[in-house]
Amino acid sequence: QRERAWSQRYSPALTTDGHRFEVVANIAKVEEATSALKAGAEGVGLVRTEFLFLDREHAPSEEEQFECYKAMVQALEGLPMVLRTIDIGGDKPVDYLGLSEHDLSFLGLRGIRLGLARPDIIRTQLRAVYRAAAFGPIKLLFPMIATPNDFRRIRQIAESVRQEVDGPQLDLGVMIEVPAAVVMAPEIAKVADFFSVGTNDLTQYALAVDRTHPLLAKRADSLHPVVLRLISTATKAAHAEGKWVGVCGGLAADPLGAQILAGLGVDELSMPPALIPAVKEKIRKASLTDLQALATRAMAQDDAVAVRLIPPVV
Ligand code: PEP
Ligand code: MG
Repeated sequence: QRERAWSQRYSPALTTDGHRFEVVANIAKVEEATSALKAGAEGVGLVRTEFLFLDREHAPSEEEQFECYKAMVQALEGLPMVLRTIDIGGDKPVDYLGLSEHDLSFLGLRGIRLGLARPDIIRTQLRAVYRAAAFGPIKLLFPMIATPNDFRRIRQIAESVRQEVDGPQLDLGVMIEVPAAVVMAPEIAKVADFFSVGTNDLTQYALAVDRTHPLLAKRADSLHPVVLRLISTATKAAHAEGKWVGVCGGLAADPLGAQILAGLGVDELSMPPALIPAVKEKIRKASLTDLQALATRAMAQDDAVAVRLIPPVV
């Protein structure tokens, strides 16, 4: 029994009819790369690099960032690592950047907007990433992209830094977490290499509910059909261009959510390492047809409470 559990942990998540979903980890620290491997992750779907920038007096140097990203990708022993550039702002404030409360609001200079406004910060980070990419397979992911132009601008910066340090070409992906990016998904999918859906922000922006508001936050339920329909639209747009789609927001870690996302056709689910074995089990219990039927039924409801009443496929 114990041996079976052990071998299951390191096997891929296949549905009963043999369809494979990648199950990967969200991490922020080097030690978590090791926990991810132990939990049976097939790679890392999200490195939240802003954690390196929080609770300190100065931004980390290029060298410090390089050492950290290199150690992470080396700890993964050849498995792929999706590294997201800093996503400061919103619920992740940083004092030393001299940003006002207004800049830091959820509708302010978050994510890539800060990178575009302060190219020194993002260029230093990108230099460290392109250097670390010599030590293992890294893909770059950009947060808070709203339009194809946001992506083109950051891609241009990335390419110029790559040439500066003579780094390898990396796949460049877009976080799908602003509803505008879903509307423009057909155009964004033409220029980006992959999508990663951030269900936490996509939910708060689509439902206009602050994800940290003490009274309203519980209404920001990512199982809301609004969110599921947006994910379905973005996934179809990516696949139409032959691009893959991951989900790294909290919905991927929810047992019912993971089954619905699989049914919507996403390719990869990324979550905290501890939840990986349970999500793999949930995928293995179902056929792709069951999962698709579940997703269709969920999208047809008119609120998240109704979706939560649908029994998962067991
Ligand atoms: C998200 O928005 O779902 C996401 C994964 O990013 P974060 O939670 O770090 O904003
Ligand atoms: Mg986000």
